[in-house]
Amino acid sequence: MKQPLLAFNDKGIYCAQANVYLDPWRPVNNALITHGHSDHARWGHKNYITQHMNVPIIKHRLGNINVTGKDWGETFTINGVMFSFHPAGHIIGSAQIRAEYKGEVWVFTGDYKTEDDGISTPYEVIKCHNFITENTFGLPAFKWQPQSEVMNDINTWWAQNKAEGKTSVLFGYTLGKAQRLLKHLDTDIGRIYTHGAIENMTEVLRQMVDFPETTLVTRDTKKEDLNGSIVLAPPSAHGSTWIRKMTPFVTGSASGWMAFRGARRRRAIDKGFVLSDHCDWTGLLESIKATGAEKIICTHGYSDIFSAYLREQGYDARTEHTQYEGDEGETTDSEAKSELKEGES
Ligand SMILES: [Zn+2]
Repeated sequence: MKQPLLAFNDKGIYCAQANVYLDPWRPVNNALITHGHSDHARWGHKNYITQHMNVPIIKHRLGNINVTGKDWGETFTINGVMFSFHPAGHIIGSAQIRAEYKGEVWVFTGDYKTEDDGISTPYEVIKCHNFITENTFGLPAFKWQPQSEVMNDINTWWAQNKAEGKTSVLFGYTLGKAQRLLKHLDTDIGRIYTHGAIENMTEVLRQMVDFPETTLVTRDTKKEDLNGSIVLAPPSAHGSTWIRKMTPFVTGSASGWMAFRGARRRRAIDKGFVLSDHCDWTGLLESIKATGAEKIICTHGYSDIFSAYLREQGYDARTEHTQYEGDEGETTDSEAKSELKEGES
């Protein structure tokens, strides 16, 4: 049997012909990186190659690294293998990686979503023979509402909290979710404040996307100013001394995991908004079909359930073990599993 173009080993997804890794989880010489989340863009590689927009993001996160940026669809050849980056629609600068060798095409999605969120370059269907897909929300129970509806709910919630004289604290992870929320908040309602981690990352992204004005919460920020405002914070800020400044406040969280009622309850969050930067069940199935691929490799998320379903549908599908963990602050795998055992959906 001939060696597959992309194979999984203990360091990552390896292309032996080109001697490069895709989103490796252990230090390597040459790494092609799909996007800036910490489980995909790790520290310690000698050379990074990624889409242009992701360059300032990973420099912000990883410091002084050796990185080359590529345009969308720009092809570059390494030892006969032709590579290119294509929009994954997951966060700003997130890419799928296409690899072609002797007429055979592979696509690795990294993380992706098909809905246009208004800030990320929208997902593009890439025809291929072999499709390596994430399955973060690969269960039929996950079915997203359109972003416009969710943002409408969030803005209504904010206005109600303001009318009750409260500060709205909205949790979303630092890279991606926070800016997606920011972009679609209704600035007619009030001012938007930020936690330092979100302010810093947003500052990096302002060179690529127009965002509403934000004000950093500092020691000097007055309680009266926060009252009626909305504060964007990473999930880790919940329960911290930092948040007490907002009193009286109500908390909300925007995440795909909010589809699980228990997730909101366990975190003691007042209001959950189901808003994910990944495909839902239908989004995954439609994307896979659109690629025309016959061979599907499922990486992280509900891969076993999802690949079994694909086999029932006639695909040549299997699961490969990776160290992609899902996006920071969203949830842990064990939490999701315990929730499934509780039988909630
Ligand atoms: Zn991600």
